[in-house]
Amino acid sequence: MTGIVDDVRWRSVVARDGASDGKFVFAVSSTGVYCRPSCPSRRPRRENVRFFPRPQEAESAGFRECMRCRPKALAGNPRQQLAKAVCRYIEQHLDEPLTLVELGSRFRQSPFHLQRMFKSVVGITPKEYADSCRMRGFRERLKSGQSVTRAMHEAGYSSSSRLYSRTASELGMEPGKYRRGAVAATIRYTCADSPLGRMLIAATDKGICSIQFADSEEELEQGLKHEFPFAMRRREDARLEELVAGVVERMKGAAVSASLPLDIQATAFQRRVWSYLQSIGFGETRSYAQVAKAIRRPRAVRAVARACATNPVPIAIPCHRVVRADGEMGGYRWGVRRKQKLLEMEASN
Ligand SMILES: [Zn+2]
Repeated sequence: MTGIVDDVRWRSVVARDGASDGKFVFAVSSTGVYCRPSCPSRRPRRENVRFFPRPQEAESAGFRECMRCRPKALAGNPRQQLAKAVCRYIEQHLDEPLTLVELGSRFRQSPFHLQRMFKSVVGITPKEYADSCRMRGFRERLKSGQSVTRAMHEAGYSSSSRLYSRTASELGMEPGKYRRGAVAATIRYTCADSPLGRMLIAATDKGICSIQFADSEEELEQGLKHEFPFAMRRREDARLEELVAGVVERMKGAAVSASLPLDIQATAFQRRVWSYLQSIGFGETRSYAQVAKAIRRPRAVRAVARACATNPVPIAIPCHRVVRADGEMGGYRWGVRRKQKLLEMEASN
C-alpha cells in the first residue's frame, strides 16, 4: 500500500512537481534534511529517501528543514499553498520565458484558473510577479556595485532595451542617476566593413561585449547606445583592428587558432546554449530542437530560440548555425538576409 503511494511521491520528487508541494515532504537520510517536492537541489538516491505527510513529522523523526526550499513556509489553505508554490517556481525560473500555459500544465490548472487563483491570492498576475522579482534582483545587484549590464543579466533580463523601458518608472528615478552607485563600464567600439555590411564591434578591457550589423554607421551607434545605455562609449578604431580581423576571418572560415576574447553576461540557461553553439563547426547546422536536446533540456525549444535571438556577439557565438527543423532558416536578429548569406558562405567553402 504505502509502497505505491511512495512510488507516486517519488515520481513527483523526480519531476520537481510544484503541484505536490504541501502534500508531503521528502527527507534524505544521507543529509538529514527534508525538502518540499519541488526543491531545486540535486535529487538524492531513492534508497535514502523517506516521505512524511507534514514537516512536523519529518522533524520528529530527526530531520531538519532545507534552507533552500523551506518546506515549512508552506502553510495555510490549499489556494495559498498553490500560489506560494507558483511564486517559488517563478523565482527559480526568472531567466526563462514563462507562459501561463506552461505554468498551468506544471501545476495542473487551466491557464485561466491559475491566473485567477494567483491574482486573488497574491494580488498581481504571475507575469507581474516575475517582473517584480527581476526588478528587485536588479536593484539589489546594482546597489551591491555590479555594473548595469551584469546586474541586468543576473537578474534575468535578456535585453537592456526591455529593462530600460521599465527602469524609469520602477526605480522611481532616472536610471542614469541610479547608476551612480554602480560601476559604469567604459566600452570601446569600432565600425568596419564585413561580408554582411557595416559591422560594429564593441569591447571592454576583457573582451568583445557586442557585435552588431546594420546598413549605416549611425544605426550601429544607435544600436550600441541602446544595448549599453549607461556605459561610456568611446570610438577607437586602431585599438580594435585585431578583433575586427578575427571576426571577419571567422565569417570566411579561415582556420583561426586563438579564440576571440569575450566579455558577455549570461543567465545560466543562456550560458548553456551559447557554449554549445560554440561547439558547432563551420559549415554545420543544428535545429533548435537538436540544441535543446544537446543541452539536456529537450522541451525548452522556444527558450533555445530566444537564447539564440539574444546572443550579443553573433559570429563569435555562431547562432546563425541554428536553423529550423524543416530546413527553413528561422529568424536572425540581424535579418534573415544576413543569416542566409552567412550560411551560403559556409556552404560554399
Ligand atoms: Zn530543499
